[in-house]
Amino acid sequence: MTTFVLATANPHKAEEMRAVLLPLGVDLLDRPQDVADVEETGDTLEENALLKARALVEATGRAAIADDTGLFVDALNGRPGVHSARFAGESASYEDNVTKLLNELDGVPTPRTARFVTVIAVAYPDGTSFCVEGELRGVITNARLGDQGFGYDPIFVADEAGGWTLAQLSPQEKNDLSHRGRALRALCAELARR
Ligand code: IMP
Repeated sequence: MTTFVLATANPHKAEEMRAVLLPLGVDLLDRPQDVADVEETGDTLEENALLKARALVEATGRAAIADDTGLFVDALNGRPGVHSARFAGESASYEDNVTKLLNELDGVPTPRTARFVTVIAVAYPDGTSFCVEGELRGVITNARLGDQGFGYDPIFVADEAGGWTLAQLSPQEKNDLSHRGRALRALCAELARR
């Protein structure tokens, strides 16, 4: 079993990551409570994921893993992108962000194409690191549907999801096709290759 400390304190993300990784032989330890949040000051998902993973290595002395995700909407020239968590302001809730996105897309004809991208960074105590990526293409709906998942899931229909939003899929169905699921499987392939 390979073990990493997990940088995220987001329970939704942690659950999705464990569900994919545990059966593939990768265990994730919780981030110690006394380790502070890292400011996501990078201009790209990769920079932010590396910042978070490296900060955790520094704090714990153990190999660490971090993910950074963004929703890139074509009609908004890729926004909210790397700023997806703070789209409606510094302390915005998922609700606030979804409302802002629906408002900004009001009047934009369908299909409102978009993609989720997840970058996962792995950092080691010897200073080495690497990143893998997963992408999911789809469209933004006109209204919220479903109560599973988190974030923008209620307004995102993946191209291969038969018209259901991510929030209408079971956790396993979401992981089987999602940006995060794909990045996690790429991570396992990369670990096996090394
Ligand atoms: P983070 O910076 O990686 O935590 O993610 C940025 C924001 O993207 C989060 O606050 C969520 O709103 C959104 N997000 C991340 N992953 C997902 C997902 O799998 N589904 C829907 N929204 C997500």
